[in-house]
Amino acid sequence: MSLIVQKFGGSSVANAQRVMNVAKIVTDTYKEGNDVIVVVSAQGDTTDDLIEKANEINPKASKREMDMLLTAGEQISISLLAMAIEKLGYPVVSLLGWQAGFNTNKAYGSARIENIKTERLQSELDKKKIIIVAGFQGVNKSDDLTTLGRGGSDTSAVAIAAALHADRCQIFTDVTGVYTADPRKIENAQKLSDITYDEMLELATLGAQVLNNRSVEMAKKYSVELEVLSSLVKEPGTIVREVAKMEKMLIRGVTKDTDVARISVVGMKDIPGNAFKMFSKLAAKKINIDVILQSVGRDGTKDISFTCASSHAAEAVEILEDLFGLEGAVVSSDTSVAKISIVGAGMQSHSGTASKMFGALYEAGINISMISTSEITISVLIEKELADKAVAAVHKAFFG
Ligand code: ADP
Ligand code: ASP
Ligand code: MG
Repeated sequence: MSLIVQKFGGSSVANAQRVMNVAKIVTDTYKEGNDVIVVVSAQGDTTDDLIEKANEINPKASKREMDMLLTAGEQISISLLAMAIEKLGYPVVSLLGWQAGFNTNKAYGSARIENIKTERLQSELDKKKIIIVAGFQGVNKSDDLTTLGRGGSDTSAVAIAAALHADRCQIFTDVTGVYTADPRKIENAQKLSDITYDEMLELATLGAQVLNNRSVEMAKKYSVELEVLSSLVKEPGTIVREVAKMEKMLIRGVTKDTDVARISVVGMKDIPGNAFKMFSKLAAKKINIDVILQSVGRDGTKDISFTCASSHAAEAVEILEDLFGLEGAVVSSDTSVAKISIVGAGMQSHSGTASKMFGALYEAGINISMISTSEITISVLIEKELADKAVAAVHKAFFG
């Protein structure tokens, strides 16, 4: 007998028919003699709709109250799925995050799981129940509800799999696996049979929303093998694990991130310590910096540009104006940019990967304004309007 954790995203439980479909998948797994714990997200666009409702009343609502609101989405889907499973005649219990033992820190809106008290989960498994857990949520030391950040149900599933040493952790979604690019945008995107944690972590961080990046980080830390597969089409998905077959692939995928801003500080004093001042202040405010570009100094001044999430742009500008405004530097932000990245461990042993990417963009008439590289990624900053065209051009260059 195995313990299997299955996670179903919002589209997989979007309506009554889809909920019944999930109930069937879950009970089939249970019928085979397995213990099953299921994690579900809110139905369809429920979370977005709840955010919109909040904005109608108070766009500056506190994060605590936002979490109180958003956790309601998952409460609806766990109870509906449990009812569907009852209808099929199987023993089932639905649990909210706190009932399932999810203890988090106090960072409302992006809480981190501190531990999972597994007693309740274990006792329900002992009673041979199918357990349905609300993803994306937990409780903090003040007994307040918290959420784990958008897409956080993936992390809930991995955390349960890690805590209970599950034999399998399956992430069911609306595509049949992880592809070389978003299969909804790129027609000939290819499904990967497997991919390493490191590559998947980069893909997820650089824009492929199919898995939440924190879930991949946690899966790597606790060696939880993940399978990404479809709840609608029955076929093998993609396995995420420590070592993957190379399949002669130079790169594993192309992604875009349109949620970026370029911040520029033009005309700051060209003296030691300015870059340090700038980035330590931003780090203290938990603003994550990505691509960095510094100009060659001239006439005693220099320029530094970098990218960050667009949601941090206004705060970053404010911080930098405080720091450098008095010395005459001009700070600006530009959110009409997008980051296009390629990811793959194969590029480490091949020269020419970067030139292939840049060549594809050149042929498509797309200008690159910033470049950054790591061992297994190359990212470029381009005009946001051209993001889809750029992904298509780069994907074609590598995958035909
Ligand atoms: P869920 O609601 O199941 O959590 P998400 O919408 O969060 O699903 O993630 C699945 C979506 O991720 C797919 O519908 C697909 O459009 C998108 N996606 C982006 N990049 C990729 C990729 N490289 N491979 C597969 N899907 C991708
Ligand atoms: N419902 C949450 C969201 O939309 C969590 C999730 O889907 O994983 O972000
Ligand atoms: Mg998701």
